[in-house]
Amino acid sequence: MNSQVHILQVDRLSAGYGQRTVLQNVTFSLNQGEVLAIIGQNGSGKSTLLKAIAGLVNIISGTVMYKGEPLPAMQPHLLIQKGISSFLQGGLILPALTVEEHFELAARQCETVFDKKLSDKVYDHFPLLGGLKKQRAGNLSGGERQMLSFGIFLVQDTKTWLLDEPTAGLAPEIVAFTVEFLERKRREEGISMMLVEHNMDVALRLASHVMIAKEGTVTQKFNPEEFHKETFLETFVYN
Ligand code: ADP
Repeated sequence: MNSQVHILQVDRLSAGYGQRTVLQNVTFSLNQGEVLAIIGQNGSGKSTLLKAIAGLVNIISGTVMYKGEPLPAMQPHLLIQKGISSFLQGGLILPALTVEEHFELAARQCETVFDKKLSDKVYDHFPLLGGLKKQRAGNLSGGERQMLSFGIFLVQDTKTWLLDEPTAGLAPEIVAFTVEFLERKRREEGISMMLVEHNMDVALRLASHVMIAKEGTVTQKFNPEEFHKETFLETFVYN
């Protein structure tokens, strides 16, 4: 696999909410099979960056290119059809729908038919969900909802994932399960990921590159081995 293929290219991006500019002149690229972790203190613009890529906030200037084409603000199902899944703002779980209905809906969003092969794939990855097919999502635990979110990604069959705090609020064993799942998808299928993660151990374990956000800007990418937690905390958290 050519690790230098740019999947996503963000160039001098400024974006925000209404009249308020949050991101300022952000430039970076995400290569195929890369997990790019964005860390930084609360309010530094990490979630806004993922939302800007997903077309959910107001782009003031600059561009977001996906596989060489501009990625304009669009409806989530069009993003999925382009090959991008997102776990933003706690995921898109609908409490009244059952587990199986979520997968049927995900298939419809991709304009594919949800057949047994697709469900087998999901239940192979998440055997626990196999016993919960008829359960409404509103009755699931945090860990089960997390598995459902990733099950939806598998049905969507996308190769680029935008992940905002995928381990937030989960019990340690579910965090470990999530890390193992994401690591495997990257290793075996070359899934490219943008990862916002406040759990630094999780971020550094998964990341092939790290970028630090501060006050709406980002640093150059660097390798996790070059990252010194203490320097980061002094420079970006206590200042
Ligand atoms: P982070 O993910 O790094 O914690 P955010 O991207 O959530 O940071 O927030 C960056 C800035 O944008 C913050 O000052 C926050 O108050 C502001 N912000 C976030 N969401 C909204 C919104 N929906 N409307 C207006 N301002 C927002």
